[in-house]
Parts: sequence; C-alpha cells; structure tokens
Amino acid sequence: MPPLHTDAIVLHVADYLESSRLLRLLTREAGVQSVVARGARSSRQRFGSATDLFAEGAAQLTVKPGRDLHALDRFDVLRARPTIAGRLDRFMAASALAEVVLRLVHDEASAEVFGVVTESLDRLGAAEEGVASVALGGIWRLLAEVGFRPALDACVECHQPVDTSGAVRFDPRSGGVRCGACAPAGTGGRLLPPTALAHLSEWLAGGTPALAVSEERAHQRLLREFLAAHLAESRPLKAWAVWEQGGW
Ligand SMILES: [Zn+2]
Repeated sequence: MPPLHTDAIVLHVADYLESSRLLRLLTREAGVQSVVARGARSSRQRFGSATDLFAEGAAQLTVKPGRDLHALDRFDVLRARPTIAGRLDRFMAASALAEVVLRLVHDEASAEVFGVVTESLDRLGAAEEGVASVALGGIWRLLAEVGFRPALDACVECHQPVDTSGAVRFDPRSGGVRCGACAPAGTGGRLLPPTALAHLSEWLAGGTPALAVSEERAHQRLLREFLAAHLAESRPLKAWAVWEQGGW
C-alpha cells in the first residue's frame, strides 16, 4: 500500500516503549488515526515539535491494512501552536475540544471537520477573552458537521416553527427545541432563555458571542448533556470534566 500523505493535527500524545510516542491524529484524508512515531522520545531530530499537542502539519503515514495502529514516517510541522500551552485556560479548553473530536470522529475523510478543528485551535491560541466561548462554538460546529446539528427554529417533535421570543425547552436527547404543545411539564431538557438560543445560533454561524461567567457554565452543562445523548460510548469525558470544573 502506498504511503498516505495528509494534513494532520496532533490531538493526543502518549509515551510508547522506551523511545517512541503514540499519537492520535485528526487527518483531513482519513479522519482520526492512531500512529506510532518511532524514535520520537530518544531523538528530537526526527520529529521535532511534531509530537507536541495541537501541532499541525503535513504527515506521511504507512498504513497497515487491517491494523488500528499505523506508522508515522514523517511530519513536517506548519503550525506548532505554542500559545495554547502558554495559558492554562486555553490549554484546558483545547484539551476538551480534542477529547470530543477523538470521541466523535472516526476514520472518514472530512475537509469540513478538519477545517472546524484547525480554525478553532487557531482561535484558541490567539484568544485573550472568551476562551470558553471559542471552544463551545468549535464543538457545536463539529457536532453540526458530523450530523448532530441542534434544531433551534423548528420543534424536534412536530416540526412546527417555535416561538423563540420567550424561554424555550431544549431537549438534548431529541436534539433540539420543543414547541409549547410538545413540551408538557416534566419533559426532559432545559428551559433556555432567548439569549442562550441566540448564542447557539451565533456559534453555529461561526461567531464567538461574549458570555458572562454564569452563561459559560450553563452552556458547558448544556453541551455536556447534548454530548452525553449523542456519543456512542458512555465513558466519562475526563478532559472535559477538568475544563468544566475549572479547578486548575
Ligand atoms: Zn412541537
């Protein structure tokens, strides 16, 4: 099999044996892939900053058919993104984003998914204010790209337009808002004020709304519930928990 040449972003790094590193990459051409970078621990020369978290560049992989672990032959870093690790709030938000990518994306090619992730990491690396809003927006757009775009205008049950001038019930399990007729008392989900719905729309359109701290917390909780309803596995999101609890 010829080597695979692809743009790639490092989303997870672990030491492997004495001299190597295991990486999980988001690639443009083949989704998420696990690779071993042989000699990456013993010598910085071969891979340089390529085994640093959130580095992006041009990768060459030797793909082994029928295997889950491939070999990273080379990785020419184009963006190292050191400013993410330079500030803890950026690093925690980027780690939560990376964790969600690794959970949501499989091995399918998607230039759109790759675009959302690279743009979100660039924005996180440059964000002075609104770091949480950048990450929340990136994750909502990622969800939309993989087929879980939340319904914000029409009821998830009866598909009629929903009056969003007042508070609206948002049901993470059903994937969006419910009209008054389809949201009797005791229905699951949360009552969202019009500002919260406006934030969701703005994120999905690529914007970064300014949030109060209490709004950040409410949106992290809402997105966590939405993810829990849509992720195939119920394993806890560890990096997400650290990010949401903010106890660093
Ligand atoms: Zn309805």
